[in-house]
Amino acid sequence: MVHHDRSRSFRSTALGCCVTRATKSSRSRRQSRTSDPADYTPSFAYSPSGGRSPVAQSLHCEGVDLVRLAGVSGTPTYIYSRAAIESAYRRLDRAFGSLPHAICYAVKASSNLSILRVMARLESSFDVVSGGELDRLRRIGVPGRHIVFSGVGKTREEIREALRYPGLHRPRGGIRLFNVESAAELDLLLSEAGRHILAGGRRPFGAIRVNPDVLAGGHPHISTGHHHHKFGVDWAEARRLYLKHADSSLISWRGITAHIGSQILTVTPYRQALWRLASYVRDLARNGVNVDFIDIGGGLGIRYTNESPVVPAKFARALTEIVRPLGCRLLIEPGRSIVGAAGVLLTRVLYVKENRGKTFVIVDAAMNDLIRPVLYNAAHPITPVVRNPEHAARRKLVDIVGPVCETGDFLARDVPLPPLSAGDLLVIWAAGAYGFVQSSNYNSRRRPAEILVEGKDFRVVRRRQTYEDLLQGELD
Ligand SMILES: *Cc1c(COP(=O)(O)O)cnc(C)c1O
Repeated sequence: MVHHDRSRSFRSTALGCCVTRATKSSRSRRQSRTSDPADYTPSFAYSPSGGRSPVAQSLHCEGVDLVRLAGVSGTPTYIYSRAAIESAYRRLDRAFGSLPHAICYAVKASSNLSILRVMARLESSFDVVSGGELDRLRRIGVPGRHIVFSGVGKTREEIREALRYPGLHRPRGGIRLFNVESAAELDLLLSEAGRHILAGGRRPFGAIRVNPDVLAGGHPHISTGHHHHKFGVDWAEARRLYLKHADSSLISWRGITAHIGSQILTVTPYRQALWRLASYVRDLARNGVNVDFIDIGGGLGIRYTNESPVVPAKFARALTEIVRPLGCRLLIEPGRSIVGAAGVLLTRVLYVKENRGKTFVIVDAAMNDLIRPVLYNAAHPITPVVRNPEHAARRKLVDIVGPVCETGDFLARDVPLPPLSAGDLLVIWAAGAYGFVQSSNYNSRRRPAEILVEGKDFRVVRRRQTYEDLLQGELD
């Protein structure tokens, strides 16, 4: 069988477009390209589990068998590998070598407190887009100098909280950078800064989010840097604002920023955007505004099925070449590329049914647990947790769907899987980013549990919701 569409090609080992593309990538020259997610997702591997059939293997996250985790915590459950998160961060960080830089993990990709703590222990900085995310960082003691605040709709309250972070009277208080997205937001920031300064606080540090007018990112919903998107302001307007407030006592311009999209698979759009930012930095300097941070946003893509993401070394080389001569400190805001491959969603088969020759596997996870397939048409590989090579030959195409009453409630369509029956465990790969954080209680379904694996140990870092939780805040 030859399959070329996105939901299938991860299984078609030596076929078609993925191979053509792979041979062009420098990575694949060193590393043979397989279609098995267990081979390209760090810290997850199939190994003998003992007990069952002598040939069967079960999926392990680091040293922990997922069959065991399903027993402990039930399903659906998100499972994250701490080692995978740490190694993604370190690879990226090391790639930039001696260039002054900071990685500001985009909290919105996965915001569990335990994951944020893992990042904080690595000395990561953070990018937040709401007061709620800022509150999470406050609770785990992240210093303000490690935080940048992005977002197109910051409220007065959120701006106030960020100005006071972590406390009004600490001389070094406040966050590192407000990434301002409009003239109106700047007005609000200045008015709040005025009060804050009167109350003994210090001047906020600001950057303007410029819309660099480049097209990048996979799906239309995750492309952000083109002139028709709501993000940022165009350069003429940004320039006017920088110069108008160049000598302001209410804001200190420290940077310039852009974020062009997500799941970006080449360096070209980054290079284009950064060239533009670099020319703006020079323009500002000629006019007496000297910024020290150049923030290129996030967006680095990962491999879900047959993508060939940019390797950190290449990404870093391309950016460094442009930033180094400016003498600025580079900020990057990766989310997906830090946690995406580090997490999977574990689910159990409830029923298998056939309708006119089509097989539906109904599982206990649904669109409310993982909305990416229907929201972005995203393809996540799905494999059985227990693999028996003897069954591999009997694979057939099935749809994996959840119990929610919506046609859009699918997790994958036309995936080749061996015969399944009720009770079997499946794993949905590369669900660590924009997975749990986008879950909801639709259909009054309880949000899933989250487990963080650390070597041979694991911790439930969020218990499954109860029915009581579902009623929280409701006034009856
Ligand atoms: C979403 C977002 C990010 C992170 O994007 P990824 O694609 O997950 O790396 C970074 N910066 C800003 C401003 C964002 O909105």
